[in-house]
Amino acid sequence: MLSEEEIIFWKRWTNTEVCSACKGICCQKNACDNAPSDFGNDISLIEKALESGYYAIDFARKSSQSFITTSSGYLTLDVENIIKSSDETLYVRPRNKNRPIIDIIHGEDIEGPCIFWSIEKGCALSYEDRPLFGRAIIPIDAGFAKLCKNVYSREMLIVQWKPYIKPLFELAKKYFPKNWKPYKDFKFQL
Ligand code: SF4
Ligand code: SF4
Repeated sequence: MLSEEEIIFWKRWTNTEVCSACKGICCQKNACDNAPSDFGNDISLIEKALESGYYAIDFARKSSQSFITTSSGYLTLDVENIIKSSDETLYVRPRNKNRPIIDIIHGEDIEGPCIFWSIEKGCALSYEDRPLFGRAIIPIDAGFAKLCKNVYSREMLIVQWKPYIKPLFELAKKYFPKNWKPYKDFKFQL
């Protein structure tokens, strides 16, 4: 739960008029990003969020260097390499509709909308319960998602989630959707 001071700090960038006029183009494209503090920095609360089906583990990366092939020919993740890397991490965000809760491999297609978004209501979460990225967004121009800025940068996300990579990897293995077709097609397993 956010303190009053934190709510005031992040809310100064919120502009509901611009986002209402836009109808949440960013939320339609992809779910926003959580910070560990959204779950009280508590891995048991993260697991509960995953079990709810409303949150997913994702993999932030700039290259494919942490994908490796096992001796049995399966693609998998080298978790030690992710821990060492300065620009990779596992992290948590709301799930995208029709995507799995362990959502690691992405193509070029839009994967949203976010599970909390609807055209009628916008974001179903109260401001206080939104992921940090959603609270810290700076709307610039309705309809031009690329112009909108965010003070919760990818660099901040990577630094904040680094200490959680190992437990997130264990959760990703525990809840891995073996039968999800794209993973089967890619021969990807954890
Ligand atoms: S794309 Fe920009 S204006 Fe549109 S909902 Fe997202 S932050 Fe708001
Ligand atoms: S949690 Fe809310 S603000 Fe974030 S992407 Fe989903 S609908 Fe948008």
